[in-house]
Amino acid sequence: MPCTDVIIIGGGLSALVAAKKLSKHKNVIIFTKSTKTSSNSYMAQGGVAAAIGKDDDWSSHFKDTMAAGCHYNLSDQVRTLVQQGPAQIKQLMKEGLEFDQETGGSIALGKEGAHSRRRILHAGGDATGKAMTTFLLHQISDNVTIIEQEMAVDLITERGRCRGIKSIDKNGSVRHHFAEHTVIATGGVGSLYKFTSNHSSVIGDGIAMAYRAGVELVDLEFIQFHPTMLYQHGEVLGLVSEAVRGEGAFLVDEHGRKIMDNVHPLGDLAPRDVVAREIYNQIQQGIDVFLDISPVSNFSKRFPTIHRLCQEHDLNGSPLLPVIPGSHFLMGGIKTGKGGETSLPGLYAVGEAAWTGVHGANRIASNSLLEGIVFGDLTAENILSKAPSLLVNHPVFSNAQTFKGTLPEKDAIRWMMAEYAGVVRNQQGLTKLKKWLEEFFDPHGPITIDNRETAEKVNMLTVAWLITTSALARRESRGGHYRTDFPVSSTEWKNKRITRQLQKQAAVI
Ligand SMILES: Cc1cc2nc3c(=O)[nH]c(=O)nc-3n(C[C@H](O)[C@H](O)[C@H](O)COP(=O)(O)OP(=O)(O)OC[C@H]3O[C@@H](n4cnc5c(N)ncnc54)[C@H](O)[C@@H]3O)c2cc1C
Repeated sequence: MPCTDVIIIGGGLSALVAAKKLSKHKNVIIFTKSTKTSSNSYMAQGGVAAAIGKDDDWSSHFKDTMAAGCHYNLSDQVRTLVQQGPAQIKQLMKEGLEFDQETGGSIALGKEGAHSRRRILHAGGDATGKAMTTFLLHQISDNVTIIEQEMAVDLITERGRCRGIKSIDKNGSVRHHFAEHTVIATGGVGSLYKFTSNHSSVIGDGIAMAYRAGVELVDLEFIQFHPTMLYQHGEVLGLVSEAVRGEGAFLVDEHGRKIMDNVHPLGDLAPRDVVAREIYNQIQQGIDVFLDISPVSNFSKRFPTIHRLCQEHDLNGSPLLPVIPGSHFLMGGIKTGKGGETSLPGLYAVGEAAWTGVHGANRIASNSLLEGIVFGDLTAENILSKAPSLLVNHPVFSNAQTFKGTLPEKDAIRWMMAEYAGVVRNQQGLTKLKKWLEEFFDPHGPITIDNRETAEKVNMLTVAWLITTSALARRESRGGHYRTDFPVSSTEWKNKRITRQLQKQAAVI
């Protein structure tokens, strides 16, 4: 039975960073259900946060990260992130990755919400993700096999260990790939929602697969809604990075009144949940909200991607960009330790699919590319330190029932999630959503799936159900999780986390 050293599912930044280190010693195959450049990582605009400025140090980055995360972050992991981040970034620069510079040649550092210093490195203006992904793809091109358009649908497990993946290839055929180590790098859950910044392929597949394999998940109720999606005729056109507000842009209502001044001391650069909620409330009252970009000098040069987006939709005639909040980032995910290890031996998780604990209840801007770099590297190091396990001779395939049922349209799931598990939640809406989701599938029963469309829908329903039921269980508001019926943070919930595992009740630990 052919067996690869390492399989990585997903081709975003965290996958590429891990693959780069692993491929020096191991055979690595990356499977992506889309193309090499179809990922959230590739679309990342604002940049990557690292305390490299003269007036900056890791302890300030630590403090800001903890404050934005409502001090719900794992402080040890945050320390690892902000202490190791600058060295990792400098190493990439040494290898040839170029960030934007000031005219004098120093690195240009941007400012984003809740950061007390200028510490955001960016490339190509607002095309940081594209620059970093392209650079890493080039670095690994000789040593890593990347298989595009092949979707992982389930994990193969044997005697309590992950042994690889079941997948569906571009022709629709089911395949089995065996590996000594399997890494989930499938990103977050953004495209579970009607309005989102995320790539359409990012719907929580890895989290659903891990759940079906009995792997422990945590903090799934914490979802960040980005305040400013460019919005026209009922559709999101793309993201307007927070860095735009960092350069002076501000939010106004349709009468030109600034909306953030009396809401938070940080005004337009308040934490994202605060800004997103204010915009949401205005829109609920029938008031349109705009981002006024007139204070931003050289907008087209500093933010070429966003400028192009505006041009494409005839929105470059006015400095007022119509905006709406949309799902952006999952703080929770597959529970991992420092080296990406999950509760299932042989299985690791990196990037947004993983919960490392660094983001707490709300991610601070530009820390997720950094998380992918730091923990992608630590995960590779951890895998390289492992002694070989026994290879699979007689793989045992799951005897779970193949899923056969009637499923809703993907857009219906997205609409229900936005309506009842979105920026603002409550008991009534979440209960309605839970009942609706349970009409289509049994979230407690082991199932297996043999075609891509069904797999995507089942995964969407599974993750939607996990988010909904976790949000129901957390009877308070904190960071990205806001309930109108429990609008404040409670001391009782301060140190509690909701963990999820197949065939186990949601546990509060
Ligand atoms: C528009 C936008 C702008 C952003 N800007 C910033 C920023 O400036 N700074 C910052 O720090 N963060 C930013 N973020 C967040 C950040 O980009 C992501 O959190 C991060 O890139 C996630 O990386 P990842 O490695 O987890 O995977 P992703 O980049 O999300 O990629 C996941 C990959 O897995 C593939 N995949 C999914 N399921 C399967 C499956 N079943 N089988 C095979 N392949 C699968 C997907 O197709 C995709 O290619 C932004 C996000 C968006 C959407």
